[in-house]
Amino acid sequence: MKNRIALLLLILTIGCKSTSIQSNDSISKSQKGDVLNKEYSILAVLWQQNSAEYKALTYQAFNTAQLQLDNMLRNKKGSEKPMAIVTDIDETLLDNSPYNAKMIELNEDYSEARWIEWGKERKAKAIPGALEFFKYAKSRGVEIFYISNRLSKQKRETIENMQKLGFPFSDDQHVLLKTDTSKKESRRFQVEKTHEIIMLLGDNLSDFHFVFDDQPSETRSRKVDSLKTFFGNKFIVLPNPMYGDWETDGILEGNYKWTPYQKDSIRRSKIRSY
Ligand SMILES: [Mg+2]
Repeated sequence: MKNRIALLLLILTIGCKSTSIQSNDSISKSQKGDVLNKEYSILAVLWQQNSAEYKALTYQAFNTAQLQLDNMLRNKKGSEKPMAIVTDIDETLLDNSPYNAKMIELNEDYSEARWIEWGKERKAKAIPGALEFFKYAKSRGVEIFYISNRLSKQKRETIENMQKLGFPFSDDQHVLLKTDTSKKESRRFQVEKTHEIIMLLGDNLSDFHFVFDDQPSETRSRKVDSLKTFFGNKFIVLPNPMYGDWETDGILEGNYKWTPYQKDSIRRSKIRSY
């Protein structure tokens, strides 16, 4: 009996010790507000890197794009300007999930320095189906313009990464990166001066139309409903569970100053249970 009581006391003491160490630690860090927790994004990265469903969806997107391109070319009655496809780069044809994995590994939030470091590696792989589609479009006489919000100082490594993979038209003239604004309308307009844009591809709604720029979740959702006939037609959407305007403008309401703890509360407050 004595032994059992002694053992019970020992277990209780050890238990209390470890609990108090953990909670004191997390309380003091939380009070300082300097702890990041990337736990919430693990599943998104796992899904992109491991689920065969992700791959199946990207093949589905590019198969649809090819079907629609064939349809358009069959019904085309000649045009004054040469035809072009406008496409985004990140999570549309380059897979940046290792960058997102690195943020989890280091428990870091987005930083320009880390993003540039990843870009310089020139190691991003092609999204499944992307290369074949853009090569096919080129073979059908369509030019490709890459409109991306990578920073203009990343141009060299971006082009080299794309060239290494074999993307057609990956050159200075066809890769239009972010200079003064992340809004893409002015760059689309620039392409339209000389070309007819017949299709747009992207993982983010602002890759398609300015009506989606800087909008909260409800408006984005409503505008998608109103443009529903364009998707899988002129607009080809790729899946991206890791980041996008759906999170920054939608969930986080365009505020880049929330602390990690505030972000966590906002995320939790926005899930809909029954
Ligand atoms: Mg993108």
